[in-house]
Amino acid sequence: MALNVDAVKKDFPILEREVNGHRLVFLDSAASSQKPQVVIEAMARYYETTHANVHRGVYTLAEEATARFEAARDRAARLINAPSSRGVIFTKNVTESINLVAYSWGRANLSAGDAILLTELEHHANLVPWLMLKEERGIELRYIPITDDGLLDLTDLDRLVHGVRLVAVAGVSNVLGTITPVRQLADAAHAAGALFLVDAAQMVPHMTTDVAAIDCDFLGFTGHKMCGPTGIGVLWAREELLESMPAFLGGGEMIRDVRLDGWTPNEIPWKFEAGTPPIAEAIGLHAAIDYLDGLGFDAIREHERLLVAYALKTLGDRYGDDIVLYGPRDPAARGGVVSFSFKDIHPHDIAQVLDEKGVALRAGHHCAKPLMRRLGVGATARASFYVYNDEADVDALADGLAAVSDFFLPA
Ligand code: PMP
Repeated sequence: MALNVDAVKKDFPILEREVNGHRLVFLDSAASSQKPQVVIEAMARYYETTHANVHRGVYTLAEEATARFEAARDRAARLINAPSSRGVIFTKNVTESINLVAYSWGRANLSAGDAILLTELEHHANLVPWLMLKEERGIELRYIPITDDGLLDLTDLDRLVHGVRLVAVAGVSNVLGTITPVRQLADAAHAAGALFLVDAAQMVPHMTTDVAAIDCDFLGFTGHKMCGPTGIGVLWAREELLESMPAFLGGGEMIRDVRLDGWTPNEIPWKFEAGTPPIAEAIGLHAAIDYLDGLGFDAIREHERLLVAYALKTLGDRYGDDIVLYGPRDPAARGGVVSFSFKDIHPHDIAQVLDEKGVALRAGHHCAKPLMRRLGVGATARASFYVYNDEADVDALADGLAAVSDFFLPA
């Protein structure tokens, strides 16, 4: 294994607990990851020693809190190799990051007849903001289809991208695990005169992510899927774009001046951060980035590739035609997510029986209903892996499925 998982497990206090009399096997990190002690402690220590509102006070605590908050922004910028932290906006989550682009850039730049290009495998977070713009403005939405193996089908890319204003794509599918060819799509978008946005919710936590190498214009991610707290996400955008975009939410922090008859916006990035920001959460995210960087993003990626290969083989060998494994066959083409259907048993039933064995597995549409329709199912079961999972966790899943089968389909 590329990571010392036994040591990693010890960093996560929640993994010490039992669920229904069994050790916790947590296979739902694509929904939200668990938190290492260093993140929990960083946030607790901040509240114990440093808390005050940022950017306002001239007293010691306020200055320290501001420095810590801005240091987190610098750390997030370095994580994704952004040219400076001025392009890093703290949001509530990646959903808000994409909505910010749709509300600010979209409403300033798109009108009836303008087209944007998405894919069939998007999470609702990268669909609904654009569907809203379609209803409001009459913009056209186009979709890159997927192959039966869950890869993007780029056969018609030239035609699809022609004339669009934006291409917006998940870097990694939260259902199929598919790693999309973001650099190729960025090049196609730019050649067509369009901007390129990456929903990196499932990418930044799991692999080295470099906005310069991708050559994207917008990239969003979310703290709680990468060992950080809930309540914080990031939108990174090219600074010149942010300069030209109108403010999104109005209020304190985001202004330079307010008069009774008008206002002037603050500089970026603060122009896009109305109200008191998620301060402790930014500090927690900073600790999470340091933690993951300490493990090494290349090692994390390799660990997940090996684990997915083991899972596909174990489940395929053991259950053959009784299990449908969705997504690319090649573990190198996918992140640490395995969605499946099992013997016509409803995914919720699968998840419930597995929970009795201490295995936490997601069941449902995974906020990707159009993709479910494309796969011809209403829901799937999904195991997703992270730094604290190992082959024993995959074995627990495989054994648990035997119990599911015994329960619902007794011999
Ligand atoms: N995009 C993708 C690809 C995701 O997997 C998720 C989370 N399931 C989101 C967006 C939304 O993340 P959040 O709820 O943190 O905004």
